[in-house]
Amino acid sequence: MPGRLLVRGGFVLTGDDRLGDVADGDVLVEDGLIVEVGRRVEVADAEIVNATGCVVIPGFVDTHRHTWQSVLRGLLPSCTLAEYFGQVMFGVGPRFRPEDVYAGTLLGSLEALNAGITTMVDWAHINNTPEHADAGIAALTDAGIRAMYAHGCPTFPEYLVNETSLGHPDDARRIRNQYFSSAEQLLTLALALRGPNPDPEITRHDWNLARDLGARITVHMGVAVKDSLLTHGVLELQGEELLGPDTTYIHCNFTTDAEFQMIRDSGGTVSIAPYVEMVMGHGRPPVERVLHNGLQPSLSADVVTTVPGDMFTQMRAAFAAGRIEQLPDDPDVPFDPALTHRDVLRFATLDGAAACGLDDKIGSITPGKDADLVLIRADDINTMPLNDPAAVVVTSADTSNVDTVLVRGRVVKHNGDLSDVDLHRLHDLTSAARDHVLGTDS
Ligand SMILES: [Zn+2]
Repeated sequence: MPGRLLVRGGFVLTGDDRLGDVADGDVLVEDGLIVEVGRRVEVADAEIVNATGCVVIPGFVDTHRHTWQSVLRGLLPSCTLAEYFGQVMFGVGPRFRPEDVYAGTLLGSLEALNAGITTMVDWAHINNTPEHADAGIAALTDAGIRAMYAHGCPTFPEYLVNETSLGHPDDARRIRNQYFSSAEQLLTLALALRGPNPDPEITRHDWNLARDLGARITVHMGVAVKDSLLTHGVLELQGEELLGPDTTYIHCNFTTDAEFQMIRDSGGTVSIAPYVEMVMGHGRPPVERVLHNGLQPSLSADVVTTVPGDMFTQMRAAFAAGRIEQLPDDPDVPFDPALTHRDVLRFATLDGAAACGLDDKIGSITPGKDADLVLIRADDINTMPLNDPAAVVVTSADTSNVDTVLVRGRVVKHNGDLSDVDLHRLHDLTSAARDHVLGTDS
């Protein structure tokens, strides 16, 4: 654990309403915690991280990513949701060995850190054996990312079909006891549940298992899948009295206003994956509808088979989708959207933290919170000159501008380079996994 560290002279977007923006600001970090934010923090014997020329933001939070699929990067750039299910979940998914899950999860975690995503919900529906879960958790640990490990089912068809009679695997209990006994660690636990089942016994079993383990719940919801209870699954869950503040509902494209109000009233949260939803056809991203119903959306990348694995893409896709939702049908009515780039930056940080139940720990640069910080260069060719620091992040920057990344005060990327990562080894590891799961090694 590092001692004292001073992030000096950046344009600090705290994301904290009380502190606002601090131009030429310093952030003092002690034992992984933010202790002071302001202009010219005077301190002796601190290690200095020079933030001159940078915008400093809280780390991005990706609230839903199937990280194991990172070895399948770019395989299905133009697919539909049905094609993705067929080729990935029912196709190559069953071929994944534990070492392939390790390779994919390590690659995806390091990719996220490199892009300034300091917290990620790893939606791991690849637990074909208990060793698969062990491998995923080992990779998250080795990467040094803050993550919610969302334990999911195997990719075998008998677990995935709508009429499955199999409950969520009991191995979740072992996982909980073996890896998640402390609340103070970077990894926390969720259950990645499949959604309501035609047999309410199965639904109740899964939800009760999560609550029995004290694990959060994350569930796909409201997507365009034929004959699926997911389309209006919120209504189903409400009928079983299973909605709660521990649950994040992902996508919600066909979720009705009444269902959003049920989510809001239960204290639940929403994750929108705007790019994939538009490309694969889950449905229209409900950015404006979520806001209109009194909720704040978080953002997610979902799958790098089809989507870039950074948060800049998600923010811009959400921003454009949310603005066009507000376009009047009548061309004579003026376009007067309320959604701004500042709102979107909050979706990607503080609202993401809330969707992980971690907004008391991360999501803003607030004294007392953990120092998950990202420095984005505002003096690069695509970000200079600095006019609006939030626009640097939301409009102009990409991963190449992510200069320095801290997770709980530990520098995991510095001067544009990931610390202690052997890219050659990572390339060999992920290529071998890819060759195995695609069958190109035989
Ligand atoms: Zn998903």
